[in-house]
Amino acid sequence: MKLETYDKTQSIDFFLPERFNKIGLNVSGGLDSAFLLWLIIKFLKDNNRTDTEIVVVTIGQNDYGKRHWNSIVSAKVIDKVLRMHDPNVNNGHLNGKQSIVSTHFTYYRTSQDKTQANSMEPRLFDIGLIDIIMSGKTANPPGDIDELLDGRDITRDLGNRGNDQIEYGKTYGKTKSAYYTPFVNVDKRFIADQYKKFNLMDDLFPVTRSCERLGEPEGKIFTTEEDFFANSCKAEECWWCKERYWAFGRY
Ligand SMILES: [Zn+2]
Repeated sequence: MKLETYDKTQSIDFFLPERFNKIGLNVSGGLDSAFLLWLIIKFLKDNNRTDTEIVVVTIGQNDYGKRHWNSIVSAKVIDKVLRMHDPNVNNGHLNGKQSIVSTHFTYYRTSQDKTQANSMEPRLFDIGLIDIIMSGKTANPPGDIDELLDGRDITRDLGNRGNDQIEYGKTYGKTKSAYYTPFVNVDKRFIADQYKKFNLMDDLFPVTRSCERLGEPEGKIFTTEEDFFANSCKAEECWWCKERYWAFGRY
């Protein structure tokens, strides 16, 4: 399935072989993973892949007094994507058919200790819950965009990022781990064009959240939970707000 930007300067070839039927997907609540969830379900439906489950993984984060907002936004994203693909998904008349997203797995960790986070995916392979991990990670904007240099994640830079093909890792239990990051070499402008091409701007876009700031150690930015969910910080120091605006022209 070929996807490209309107100007055809960025493209990917999206494909998931049939041997993978238990997909672990990291959903952050942001634009990229929300689109990937929507795209995987479209791909499975288009190809009549009714044997495939998606296990959505998100993090119940409790760092620096932050609330577990990723899982709240992710749950909204999952609900929206399911309703968009199947308007009857939540009304109990599925005639015995289960929703394609079988599990919303919220992984809770009590600290920033990376060893804890990194131990989770191998365990999911080990118990046979998943056979591939997919991620919506995208490339950084081009290096000549000065205002998007400070604060970026350098693992998304050219030369540091991996490739966009399926890669195999270690074997855990009976499962050989596999990883697929289809958007790793296209940037947020590619994602923006897909939202427009597939008509996702009015329904999916508004439930996603890119802003990463909330209760910072030095003081509150959002005064209430309602304030937080209704707004982004739009601040100079919030890289994710700036990238969203750069690609989509709005927050
Ligand atoms: Zn922000």
